[in-house]
Amino acid sequence: MKLAVFSTKKWVSNSFSQKIPEFIDITFFETGLNEETAVLAHGFEAVCVFVNDVLNSGVINILADHGVGIIALRCAGFNNVDLITAAEKNITICRVPAYSPYAVAEHTLGLILSLNRKFHRAHARVREGNFSLVGLMGFDLHGKTVGVIGTGKIGQVFMEILSGLGVNILAVDKYPSDKVKSRGIEYVELDKLYKDSDIISLHCPLNHETYHLINDYAIRSMKRGVMLINTSRGPLIDTNAVINGLKSGVIGYVGLDVYEEEGDLFFEDLSDEVIQDDTFVRLQTFPNVLITSHQAFFTAEAVDNIRDTTFENLKEINETGTCGNIVSTEIHRST
Ligand code: NAD
Repeated sequence: MKLAVFSTKKWVSNSFSQKIPEFIDITFFETGLNEETAVLAHGFEAVCVFVNDVLNSGVINILADHGVGIIALRCAGFNNVDLITAAEKNITICRVPAYSPYAVAEHTLGLILSLNRKFHRAHARVREGNFSLVGLMGFDLHGKTVGVIGTGKIGQVFMEILSGLGVNILAVDKYPSDKVKSRGIEYVELDKLYKDSDIISLHCPLNHETYHLINDYAIRSMKRGVMLINTSRGPLIDTNAVINGLKSGVIGYVGLDVYEEEGDLFFEDLSDEVIQDDTFVRLQTFPNVLITSHQAFFTAEAVDNIRDTTFENLKEINETGTCGNIVSTEIHRST
């Protein structure tokens, strides 16, 4: 099987090259997949893509015209894929549904602790010889209320971690889990979660129902000084509404590992360039905002799992025409 891997960073080629199965003839492209680059897939049966590759109907039509029959996502989310066009073009799509919920859940806690205790600011100060504590006061997490929106694989691991911190947990999910309930965690309506939570963390997928879930209306319902954390997908949050919430003081802290326009920024070294995204630049000016560039998944274990599951998916599809991790319009409707 000829496989074209797009958005190849060194960590991708290093990891994938260690274990290329015999049936795969692999080519790595550094560029992302989009309308301009899709022709590179000419002559390949399969493409392997990541979170910020573009898989809209235009790109999928080009891929199909050039003979591509399989799209292997090396991520869990598939919000960037036009599933209907893919189905019309008979393209098989597979994904890596879980590579390490621990990686993302642990990063989420890292953002909360850093924002609260201001590790990033303290580190910079101490390196400058500034040992003042002014502005570094945090709060005890113990006794606070954490609202978790989306209690799937990552949300559940995150709540397990939280259980060691003496916090109260409120959960929201479209499909509440009996396992979560059996651990004594209360499912509530979104409005109650917004009203009562000191910290709100997003772990639901991005789809037509959750796009801009955190908007002006939601923010108006939140506790003054709330900490908002998004390690899920950028467009869950209306960034301009969050900026207004920060300016008014309703939002006290924001921790982001994802951003709605991250495709033009994240994963690239732009340190010599002028950032053109004024909204992103405004976000960075707040002392109580901490942004990481979609690195929550990025642990050695997760990267190995991404590689192994991607190759297993392709092997199964090669041998049987399908696999256990197929993404279809049916899954799209249920999530
Ligand atoms: P999952 O499918 O196991 O869990 C998602 C949960 O959200 C499910 O329980 C589902 O019922 C719930 N849900 C669906 N629609 C909802 C709605 N409208 N309101 C509330 N809940 C809703 O997914 P997961 O593996 O836990 O991943 C969660 C998200 O994390 C993914 O969708 C992905 O976007 C993101 N993610 C980010 C990174 C990163 O590096 N930052 C890595 C992996 C995954």
